[in-house]
Amino acid sequence: MAEKITAVKGMNDLLPTDSGRWEALEDTVRQLMRRHAYRNIRTPIVEPTALFVRGLGEVTDIVEKEMYSFEDRLNGEQLTLRPEATAGVVRAVVEHNLLYDGGKRLYYMGPMFRHERPQRGRYRQFHQIGAEALGFAGAEVDAELILLAVSLWQTLGLKDVRLELNSLGQPPERAQHRAALIAYFEQHADQLDEDAKRRLHSNPLRILDTKNPAMQALVEAAPKLIDFLGDASLKHFETVRQILDANGVGYRINPRLVRGMDYYNLTVFEFITEHLGSQGTICGGGRYDYLIEQVGGKPAPAVGWALGVERVLELLKEQGVGAPDVVADAYAIVPDVQALPHVLQTLQQLRRAGVKVQMHAPSGVAMPGQGMGSMKSQFKKADTSGARYALIFGGDEMQRGEVTLKALRDGQGAQVCLPLADVAQWAKRLQS
Ligand code: ATP
Ligand code: MG
Repeated sequence: MAEKITAVKGMNDLLPTDSGRWEALEDTVRQLMRRHAYRNIRTPIVEPTALFVRGLGEVTDIVEKEMYSFEDRLNGEQLTLRPEATAGVVRAVVEHNLLYDGGKRLYYMGPMFRHERPQRGRYRQFHQIGAEALGFAGAEVDAELILLAVSLWQTLGLKDVRLELNSLGQPPERAQHRAALIAYFEQHADQLDEDAKRRLHSNPLRILDTKNPAMQALVEAAPKLIDFLGDASLKHFETVRQILDANGVGYRINPRLVRGMDYYNLTVFEFITEHLGSQGTICGGGRYDYLIEQVGGKPAPAVGWALGVERVLELLKEQGVGAPDVVADAYAIVPDVQALPHVLQTLQQLRRAGVKVQMHAPSGVAMPGQGMGSMKSQFKKADTSGARYALIFGGDEMQRGEVTLKALRDGQGAQVCLPLADVAQWAKRLQS
């Protein structure tokens, strides 16, 4: 046998044992997005590298070390597998002038790529579901998006997810804070690690986002952005909080919450759980009123969030939320190859009526004239399939224009003959 080729490190196959949960999550999200009037957008997985460098900020973890970037062999273009989708959505919105007649509410789902160290909850290809509201400046839209995420946790049955909230203010307020931050860190230069030293003058805010335990105390006592906010920024933050309060959504204000990209301003938030170890952030987002302008659009405000699908599903599993049932209603047993054309006709009628039907087919390498396998082996397959019924297309029954329905679970063994001419009449009985 030839040598096996395996998947790229940090990139996973999604197998049928788990895909039921993914599909259920996607279904729930689609339904919820429709209820909030968010519409789907799908952008390319590959974008010009410049989009992320300009959009996310040069001195961010993602742009400095996590991007899968390459040169197009044919025309030398610098390209990158998207590490996140907000920049691409903004590019598309600008490119197609989607804001010409007012704000747009959008959502997406799909794979993202970051060259990080693979571990639980952290992969190189992972998946995000995100919601973006572009062209709206009001705090009520920030709140709407947070409430949308909270509804999602509730609908999924997720527990113990806490909300952390902060405001990053506006650029002039950040500039003042930045100066104070640099002065503070310069005073404590001996306590800075290599990353922090490098970022001290390029992007000191990023130092607050450090995961280095040795720097936590230093960072804890650093000047807080929230103390530099003016009236308008404070009012925006207060409105968000009032709406959350009125809706019974609990949160904690975390003055150190800065998020991983540079494009945020005003409201930022994260949903965090203690049940996933150190990869506990399942969703993060905030306002990004300057990104659209930064990638070449007419200035327009925006706000959004993205959740990590793998982490949300891991949490659901951890909390024992059951996987959806994917077994068929009925398993078709076919003793005679000659009967197949008529059998498949009946199965298609059943499927059109909404019944989930699995047809028996012999497994393995095909042998001429092999047949469908013994009744015994077909019944065994029917049993292990988990189906509630077996439909037996025996020669005698079919001669009479009938098929035998046998219960495999509840009322096991009970059987009844049903007319092949009248499938629609009894199909409903089989549906779960
Ligand atoms: P972290 O601090 O965990 O690295 P982040 O701030 O880089 O997260 P975002 O860019 O805000 O994450 O992405 C939104 C969500 O996507 C995260 O909250 C997380 O649930 C998920 N996510 C981010 N990176 C990964 C990854 N490498 N593997 C799996 N999920 C991820
Ligand atoms: Mg990260």
